[in-house]
Amino acid sequence: ETAIVLFTRDLRVHDHPALAAACARARTVVPLFVLDPAVPAGRRTGFLLECLADLRRSLRSLGGDLVVRRGDTVAETARLARETGATTVCASADVSALARRREDRLAAERIELLLFPGVTVVPPGALLPSGGGDHYRVFTPYWRAWTRHPRRPVEPPPAALRLPDELDPGPLPDPGRAASPFPGGESAARRRADAWLRDGLDGYAAGHDDLAGDRTSRLSPYLRFGCLSPLELAERAARAEDFVRQLCWRDFHHQVAYAFPDLNRRDYRPRGRTWRRDDDALQAWREGLTGLPIVDAGLRQLLAEGWMHNRARLITAAYLVRTLGIDWRAGARHFFEHLLDGDVADNSGNWQWVAGTGNDSRPNRAFNPLRQAARFDPSGDYVRRYVPELAGLPASAIHEPWRLPTPPPGYPSPLAS
Ligand code: FAD
Repeated sequence: ETAIVLFTRDLRVHDHPALAAACARARTVVPLFVLDPAVPAGRRTGFLLECLADLRRSLRSLGGDLVVRRGDTVAETARLARETGATTVCASADVSALARRREDRLAAERIELLLFPGVTVVPPGALLPSGGGDHYRVFTPYWRAWTRHPRRPVEPPPAALRLPDELDPGPLPDPGRAASPFPGGESAARRRADAWLRDGLDGYAAGHDDLAGDRTSRLSPYLRFGCLSPLELAERAARAEDFVRQLCWRDFHHQVAYAFPDLNRRDYRPRGRTWRRDDDALQAWREGLTGLPIVDAGLRQLLAEGWMHNRARLITAAYLVRTLGIDWRAGARHFFEHLLDGDVADNSGNWQWVAGTGNDSRPNRAFNPLRQAARFDPSGDYVRRYVPELAGLPASAIHEPWRLPTPPPGYPSPLAS
């Protein structure tokens, strides 16, 4: 018997239930990835290609390979099944509207589709609130249920793989990517996770909001593409509750997106708010030229690294929706395009949280960027790192340069503060 393992955003061999199941049930296994133009990749393409190259190396070292095809995922999977005589497709169940349409279409093909967990710690829909409803709308009760939920065991990588004879694995495009602080792939992910668990985890609770200290794990792009199993990470990090809680937030937004597939388009809790249209302000925000240093630093970090510190995401997002009054969807689109970890559930869920249309039980909480700057970048070093025009200013002036008798040349005056 031959089984196809359809990889999507689960680009690893460790703790991969779909891969483990295919190896257990079939004599020959075809690991497949389809480069599908329908999946928006934004800036993530190079990272994705590095992940695929690394996955191919791992599968080859186990005696298999990664078969790469290009086109519509469902059509290419069905074609490969016909070519290899595969009767089963094993895949990781996913939550986005796009992924679920793909699953429905695959299920309609003449082939057995088996879906497995692996994208989240606890599968969406596995926990339901006692008061009724198809998902949790509030985080704290979800967290309580999540911590008590029994977990499946972490799967070891398969011992060996066998590919059907004479199958052409297909070429993998060159990532064509300059050296990045985030090299793609499971090997890089595991190296970073090991180092983080050893050296970073214990300082997380105290340091995760320190913008200049940059003491969060930076594992999000790897979790986004499944180079790391969130379950395995949660088990290994169990001693640090603050960190595990963040992994639970990820699951939380995934179960919301699963139940509310329009999360990236429609207000989750409509509040009848009208947004202001201001294309110039929106463009200045996108480029990190708002004239508010803490906001510009975050937005420029995004453009430079394809990643932004969580505290800066909160500050820049709140500035767009609350101070400038611009629709959260415009901001979410920009983030989604540039973030290496850009993910429909986490991005839209967090934007809606900031906009007050999401799952926050206090949707009108105050959010003053200058107070945030004083608290989370007191030295100004975060601003200095990303806004070179201001690098020479002392801590006392760096967050409000417009108050100086001669404001620094080349830096805009604030749109609003
Ligand atoms: P750590 O602090 O080390 O946390 C570990 C992991 O927990 C993260 O890698 C991530 O997978 C998860 N996590 C942490 N915070 C959150 C959260 N608030 N929501 C969901 N998961 C979380 N995260 C994304 O992965 N993709 C996105 O597209 C995304 N968009 C965001 C948009 C806005 C407006 C905001 C405020 C937050 C967004 N986040 C998103 C959440 C969070 O900012 C990032 O996950 C985090 O900054 C990644 O850095 P890290 O890996 O060092 O996180």
